[in-house]
Amino acid sequence: MDVMEVLMNLGIRFSSLAFSLRPWDVLDILIIAYLVYRLLLLVRRTNSSRLIKGVGVLVVALWLSSGRLLALNFLLNRVVDLGILALLILFQPEIRRGLEQVGSSKLPILQWFSKPQVDRQTLEEAISETVSACGDMSKSRTGALIVFERHNQLDEQLRSGTKLDAEVSSELLKNIFFVKAPMHDGAALIRDGRVLGAGCMLPLSRNVNLSRDLGMRHRAGIGMSEHSDAVVVLVSEETGSISVAVGGMLKRHLMTETLEQLLRNELLPQQEEDDESGKKRKGLKGLLSKEKKDGESTDE
Ligand code: ATP
Ligand code: MG
Repeated sequence: MDVMEVLMNLGIRFSSLAFSLRPWDVLDILIIAYLVYRLLLLVRRTNSSRLIKGVGVLVVALWLSSGRLLALNFLLNRVVDLGILALLILFQPEIRRGLEQVGSSKLPILQWFSKPQVDRQTLEEAISETVSACGDMSKSRTGALIVFERHNQLDEQLRSGTKLDAEVSSELLKNIFFVKAPMHDGAALIRDGRVLGAGCMLPLSRNVNLSRDLGMRHRAGIGMSEHSDAVVVLVSEETGSISVAVGGMLKRHLMTETLEQLLRNELLPQQEEDDESGKKRKGLKGLLSKEKKDGESTDE
């Protein structure tokens, strides 16, 4: 068969396939394409490209050996069987996170099932209590790490800490982060305006370009904001400086007023944001672009 003949054959097959395509097949293809896309994203995010290359080599070897090198083919087949199990174990945290994200996804219908709407007042109080606690902890040089959960549920982090379920109050936060208190290490997690846990372990940032003077607390805060849509508030034990991390970006050296405005912009429902004061809604990015001009330091 020459090349032209092969191409012709392929063309005929494709066109007959295209004609017999049903709407369900299109949906099927779209879903598979989406899953492959997510898998590629996962590979990139988890730095597992070497692992994937290994799997690729295995698949090619399997294909080459089939029908020819029977013993090798048999052996490779067994390796593949075990390999699937090994991949499941290796990616267990990612798979769990993925499934959790499906459960906490932004689809309105899923949200309706999973989250009761929190009233604005509870959130406003949680914000002002947090700001007041941060102001005090900044003065007393008490290290703090506070995570405000948004859409992405942080159940894994919650499990790593001590469970609480309490109203957010300045006293409680200061108590949690008091140096001699058993729960001061790690992060406090706030969901729907309530402190749900403390002493939680956060994932560290993989960003190698972070400023050298950022220690583990700040790297954990930034890491959490890279892995999820959470808003993370930090108080430095060394300098008393207050920072906020959102989407992998850290805004440092915040005044309490700026902290409050930032938290309100990020956490309160949008519709009432342009209230009497006529303030424009400004998230971290807006503040960043403004304050960069003022010469303040930011890390991305
Ligand atoms: P500071 O300015 O307060 O010193 P830092 O960024 O220099 O902060 P470290 O001095 O290394 O950070 O802070 C260590 C503290 O950070 C630990 O005692 C612990 O409470 C917290 N921490 C470190 N790693 C994590 C993590 N993965 N998850 C949550 N908290 C963490
Ligand atoms: Mg330090």
